Amino acid sequence: MPNLSSDIKFLPGMGPKKAEVLKTELGIVTLEDLIYYFPFKYIDRSKFYTVSEVHPDLPYVQLRGKISNFALKGNGRTQYLTAVFSDTTGHLELVWFKGLKWITENLSTGKEYIVLGKAALYGSKLNIAHPETEDAEKFDPNLSGILEPAYNTTEKMKRAFVHSKAIFRFQQAAFRMLSAEFAETLPYYIREKYHLMPLREALFNVHFPQTNIELKKARYRLIFEELFYIQLNLLKTKAFRAKKFKGYTFDKIGTCFNTFFNEKLPFQLTGAQKKVIKEIRKDLGSGMQCNRLLQGDVGSGKTLVALMSMLIALDNGFQACLMAPTEILAQQHFATISRFLSGMNISPALLTGNTKQKDRKILHEQLADGSLQILVGTHALIEDIVQFQNLGLVVIDEQHRFGVEQRARMWKKNDRPPHIIVMTATPIPRTLAMTVYGDLDISVINELPPGRKPIKTLHMFDSQRLRLFGLMREEIKKGRQIYVVYPLIKESEKFDYKDLEDGLESISRAFPPPEFAVSVVHGKMKSVEKEKAMQLFIRHVTQIMVATTVIEVGVDVPNASVMVIESAERFGLSQLHQLRGRVGRGAEMSYCYLMSSHKLSTEARKRLQIMTETTDGFKISEEDLKLRGPGDIEGTQQSGMPFDLKISNLVQDSEILALVRNVASDIVDVDFELSLPENEILGFQLKKLIRSSKNWSVVS
Ligand code: ADP
Ligand code: MG
Repeated sequence: MPNLSSDIKFLPGMGPKKAEVLKTELGIVTLEDLIYYFPFKYIDRSKFYTVSEVHPDLPYVQLRGKISNFALKGNGRTQYLTAVFSDTTGHLELVWFKGLKWITENLSTGKEYIVLGKAALYGSKLNIAHPETEDAEKFDPNLSGILEPAYNTTEKMKRAFVHSKAIFRFQQAAFRMLSAEFAETLPYYIREKYHLMPLREALFNVHFPQTNIELKKARYRLIFEELFYIQLNLLKTKAFRAKKFKGYTFDKIGTCFNTFFNEKLPFQLTGAQKKVIKEIRKDLGSGMQCNRLLQGDVGSGKTLVALMSMLIALDNGFQACLMAPTEILAQQHFATISRFLSGMNISPALLTGNTKQKDRKILHEQLADGSLQILVGTHALIEDIVQFQNLGLVVIDEQHRFGVEQRARMWKKNDRPPHIIVMTATPIPRTLAMTVYGDLDISVINELPPGRKPIKTLHMFDSQRLRLFGLMREEIKKGRQIYVVYPLIKESEKFDYKDLEDGLESISRAFPPPEFAVSVVHGKMKSVEKEKAMQLFIRHVTQIMVATTVIEVGVDVPNASVMVIESAERFGLSQLHQLRGRVGRGAEMSYCYLMSSHKLSTEARKRLQIMTETTDGFKISEEDLKLRGPGDIEGTQQSGMPFDLKISNLVQDSEILALVRNVASDIVDVDFELSLPENEILGFQLKKLIRSSKNWSVVS
């Protein structure tokens, strides 16, 4: 008898070739994998459009009519096929770039077809590229259902004839074979309380919906379940950690913190900084290990909060360290912290890949005997040879650049795991934080230090460069400094973007010495040279800093008031926001000029528009999620989403996410081991999910 774990290759019509493609392209091996491969949209087969009604804004249209005038165009490799589709109201063009042979052999002039596709405007003419075609005679909506599912496929799948329709037929076959019940995966009390469809019904309806209402209910059940188990896993891990690991208790506020706060702090803390420091203090004093995510917009003063947290560790007889993802950033943090602490009896040290062996040895000794209290550095901190006498707090800046194992190694640097505070470079959307960092407590600095003037952002085209140079000169005359950032160092054949070498030439011409001086920093330079160039800019010896995105994070020169981003269309939103955050740090009015060519994709245009409309990093991150989807958001790229979402969408399903987090939280509060009889099914299913996906281990 076939069951859920049966191999798909035994499905009628499948065969070894198609099964192999499904495996390599989508990881589908068993019938269960197949059934959990959900449609990404549905086509309403009851609705027919006429050619006169078709326009490019419609998502997907179904037409009925005849195909004629096949014509092979282009030549050699760029050959393509066109045809005219017509009904009683008019005609449009059909275009194929692939599978031309099949089309010419199988479609005939004069016959009536159902044509499905997305219309686009090509020049002034409407066309549909790669339409699906069906013999109108054979079309029967009662057979395929009114709402026809569409499944995502890849090129390789299509070449093996595993297109959306084929997957649909495999789903039908799978359901026919699996007459046995699907074991329910949610306890009855949850299904009852939240009116959730039984699992089997939901799975059936998501593939073969008869009505929109049933489809909605089916999807709701499956989205609920998917997000619920992710939350349950995160919250269960969090509860487990709290029970298992005793944390060091920092219950004193002593000389370090007080001296700094009363005598050294050059400004008032913002309300948000105070609130967050209070939250951290409470964690550190609770006897449990602190695992907290510190979110705040660019320039909101996270570093200061980190420093004050470290001082609490010192006051309690512990050491602290701050780990940054890049050399430049580590140096910058080190400089900032040294400056803040000057005159106090604490000398922090810097450890990076470039630290000399001789200095390293001294450092190691000082760490081991406890005389070195604050260590700032890069990945170098993680190495096993770096041993602390008594490490109590680890601050990790720009968390996403560190992998899971690297973080786990920091846990082992003392008998009990040290407290962990993770800072993100820019805000990440709430729903994403709840999933990717869902096992951490979250603090938000939602306020910028006072007196900051907003940054005026303008989108300009390359043709307006002379005007840009004029604006730059004005600012330099006022005594301000300027960053000009390029996406590439050298000219590239692959991309038509501005490069630093070329840009430097024209800037040097427009801003000649002795009146002007220019610094250059890019990733290919030795770090001593980078540092030298940075220092010249920091000390205001140079007025213009020409750079690649190495200056993206952390760099802090308050006198810089203009950020020019070349080929801005090349950058993602969070990167643009991070770059823009390098200015607006002083009390002067600041400017950000986004330079682009006239050729812009819709999405790039939208990104630049968002940048000119708001400087609120939280808002920008939400828009970014909407535009790109969770896998592409900074903060998840490197570490990857810890799981694949099969049906949920963190933008559209944010309400369900909030709901299931509460549901999971209530369960974990009373039964974090999931040992109550009514929760048995939860424990069982969670284990199964963790086993089946290597990505389900909790990351933070
Ligand atoms: P983030 O790391 O969050 O992007 P930083 O910690 O680099 O921000 O802080 C940005 C700048 O604001 C720094 O120059 C810092 O010294 C300054 N700053 C931080 N907190 C305050 C405050 N409460 N009032 C005034 N300036 C502040
Ligand atoms: Mg910072």
